[in-house]
Amino acid sequence: MKEQLLKMPGQKFAINELVMGRWPGSNLYYEVQVVSFDNITDHYTVKYKDGTELELKESDIKHTSSFRSKKRHSGSSSPSRRRSRSRSRSPGRTSKNISRRSNSQGREIKEVKKAAILETKLTPMLRENSVGRYNGERYILEKTDASLSFTQVVDGMPLSNGKALKYRINGFYAFVLTATSVGVSLYFKMGLYYVYDHFLQLAVSATVFSVLLSIYLYVRSYKVPHEELSLAGNSGNLVYDFFMGRELNPCIGTFDLKYFCELRPGLIGWVVINLVMLLAEMKAQNLDAPSLSMILVNSFQFLYVVDALWNEEAILTTMDITHDGFGFMLAFGDLVWVPFVYSLQAFYLVNHPTKISWPIASAVIALNVFGYAIFRGANSQKYAFRRNPNDPKLAHLKSIPTATGKNLLISGWWGLVRHPNYLGDIIMALAWSLPCGFNHILPYFYVIYFTCLLIHREARDERQCKKKYGLAWEKYCQRVQYRIFPYIY
Ligand code: NDP
Repeated sequence: MKEQLLKMPGQKFAINELVMGRWPGSNLYYEVQVVSFDNITDHYTVKYKDGTELELKESDIKHTSSFRSKKRHSGSSSPSRRRSRSRSRSPGRTSKNISRRSNSQGREIKEVKKAAILETKLTPMLRENSVGRYNGERYILEKTDASLSFTQVVDGMPLSNGKALKYRINGFYAFVLTATSVGVSLYFKMGLYYVYDHFLQLAVSATVFSVLLSIYLYVRSYKVPHEELSLAGNSGNLVYDFFMGRELNPCIGTFDLKYFCELRPGLIGWVVINLVMLLAEMKAQNLDAPSLSMILVNSFQFLYVVDALWNEEAILTTMDITHDGFGFMLAFGDLVWVPFVYSLQAFYLVNHPTKISWPIASAVIALNVFGYAIFRGANSQKYAFRRNPNDPKLAHLKSIPTATGKNLLISGWWGLVRHPNYLGDIIMALAWSLPCGFNHILPYFYVIYFTCLLIHREARDERQCKKKYGLAWEKYCQRVQYRIFPYIY
């Protein structure tokens, strides 16, 4: 028998009405039933399909009709229909710490909320999809309107206060705009060679700027609420905190300083500097066309940067964004280290003519393609698996369960070594150095430094995963014995 919908004056949603309720601390909306309304707090008690009851604010509830148009558009069936086919589970049910009793007490509700925030923190963001899946459960991701039609605005990972910042995904367009400006400068012969001539001065200026920026960031961090500080940079030691960064997401208005610096000036600056080196080489060595070595270095690194900007959204789940504060380490890394140090191979080639034969060049290209295939394959496989573990395209992959409800891949790229993406990245780094020959160590600085960086990073991630997944992680390590290099390390 159909339940009666009851609505008091001032109440937007009726008792017994089926609505979409936001899971606390996330963007995920589930079909829920309104159980009661408290006209003193203006909160609704809603019931999820698995019986979990939570209190939600009116702003966290939406009419199901506001989602239906999207579902029809994407051609998928309603979440509730799909849910009834599979075993219904809310994210909260996946955590062993969460009470599932329908008559949850206030303390239990807090527990549920806390765990939900924790779990959604571990969930990668989705690209464009309005419908996704979490631990086998379908959910709907609220899309945010972008004021510019060519940008996509997405929510970042939930912060400790349960809120999520909004990020404008338009790095690729920023790159296209820069490329157009560079093209126009070249057309009007505006002398990009200046950058090569003043390479050191520009690097020093960028360093001074990053120091000033870090001082500004350090000072302003004392004005923000404690909950907006990073866990990593608040030791009380001035030097350490200045280096690590105190504030997690410093913003001027809606302009997020860390997010902006992470990809745009550094990565885009890197390929612009590489191009300048290419022009400088032609001028210095009186060439009609750049050398094959220079073309290879430029093309390989161009591909890497375009790939990062094209997949910009993936950065929202990285440690830099979710964990580290914005201080000298990231400011210097983003604004100085990446553009001026990563371009050292191209810089070296300007005054060190290096001839390589086509067979050698072909072998180096093959090595870069090989590295890229591992790097992209591994990153995409994990991203797809985290986004939708039940994706039929991933059905051939084996995984093991963990207590958090998330599974760990034990076959495919992630069954080869524990960090196949690092392996691919290091192979590419080697391919970027080889076109420079073997006469000098400078072009090999990047691959040596980067290998050390990723070995250290792998150890950090390993510690965190051990903490996060406990026994399941140990089981994974037994199955997949090597960390980065098969049969070596
Ligand atoms: P990863 O993308 O490797 O992410 C590590 C996380 O993946 C773990 O914490 C865990 O998180 C998840 N994970 C680990 N094992 C498995 C598994 N078997 N199955 C499913 N999920 C698993 O880390 P990074 O952010 O360090 O690297 C991203 C990319 O960026 C890499 O390609 C790296 O090479 C590159 N990079 C480049 C740098 C540069 O300067 N050029 C610097 C640093 C990184 P969870 O389970 O919570 O999802």
